[in-house]
Amino acid sequence: MIYFDHSSTTPIHSEVSKRMYEINQDHFANPSSVYESGRKAKSLIEHARFQIAEAVGAKSSQIYFCSGGTEANNQVLWSLINQKNKHIIISAIEHPAISKVLERLKVFGVESTLVPVDKQGVINTSILLDSIRDDTGLISIMLANNEIGSLQPIRKIIKQINKPNVPFHTDAVQSIGKMSVDVYELGIDYMSLSAHKFYGPKGVGALFVKNRDKFSSFIVGGNQENGLRGGTENIAGIVGMGLAAELAVKNQEKCIAKLNLLEKHFLSNIRQSFPLAKHNAKNNLPGLLSISFPGYKSDILMAKLDRLNFAVSNGSACNAGIIKPSKVLKAIGLEDEINLSTLRISFGKDNTIEEVDQFIKTLNDILN
Ligand code: PLP
Repeated sequence: MIYFDHSSTTPIHSEVSKRMYEINQDHFANPSSVYESGRKAKSLIEHARFQIAEAVGAKSSQIYFCSGGTEANNQVLWSLINQKNKHIIISAIEHPAISKVLERLKVFGVESTLVPVDKQGVINTSILLDSIRDDTGLISIMLANNEIGSLQPIRKIIKQINKPNVPFHTDAVQSIGKMSVDVYELGIDYMSLSAHKFYGPKGVGALFVKNRDKFSSFIVGGNQENGLRGGTENIAGIVGMGLAAELAVKNQEKCIAKLNLLEKHFLSNIRQSFPLAKHNAKNNLPGLLSISFPGYKSDILMAKLDRLNFAVSNGSACNAGIIKPSKVLKAIGLEDEINLSTLRISFGKDNTIEEVDQFIKTLNDILN
């Protein structure tokens, strides 16, 4: 299979997979146990916490492990129900792990404002600023979008907010290893991360919490994660996430250069062979392309490509299987017909120019 769906998930880095195997074999003790092997398991978790903190410019004490981006986002949003200020502002292109949660929170009195984005998928900052109310308790804007790769000017937005006590959350699940992410440079209060998007394991993620005082647990149980997330820790997953983050940041420049090269090669070739192809939202995360093929249905294109062993997507993976126009593409102004003709192609660090050439040739055969 030639895999061009890295925004959906990435293969595990071989070093990460090897390390996780060793951990599962040798360090199975419960990290809450006081005997030596339990203490060792705990110290492995603390090292991973340090690795994640280093990767995003945080302190170790500000990183909390959980089951992934979905849980991290839920934890931040559900914290609203315990607050006096229950109004939240989000962008029109947030992942369902933000937008759908708000539907549930309505019954708890949480009101939301959806801020539109432009054709490039960039949020309208002045509407966002005008939407801030006296009872606004949270602003949640993703750093990079998972379907079109658009990047949001988080730092610039935060600098313009003149109500300094409104906490700011960003879903940075798509960003690690593809752009520099520094929590203090950004100026955020909360940030969600997920290991399987940067060559780590699935089912493990982390939440950056700047100031723990105002925050309560979401998964209630034991006293793990300093009381913020109950449940016996996924030691191998956490260690795998720590190592994956370290490797992603170490190899970031090389990875970005490779993704840009593949992207440029694909775009120049597709323009020649299929001039009607339309590249949506160009202010992009490296390697993530949203391309519309007018006159072709994306689900049929995907099925044909699948039969020929190419994996691409036509929307966020979490929505796969549902043939409905994408909300994100709607938000950037795509009519339903062109919306349903759009593929997401997301390259990874191990893809090659030869693979892109094979893909172009196959697409050519299908399209022409
Ligand atoms: N947020 C974004 C932007 C995503 O792309 C995803 C996964 O597709 C998630 C959140 C959910 O992350 P996880 O799969 O770790 O729950």
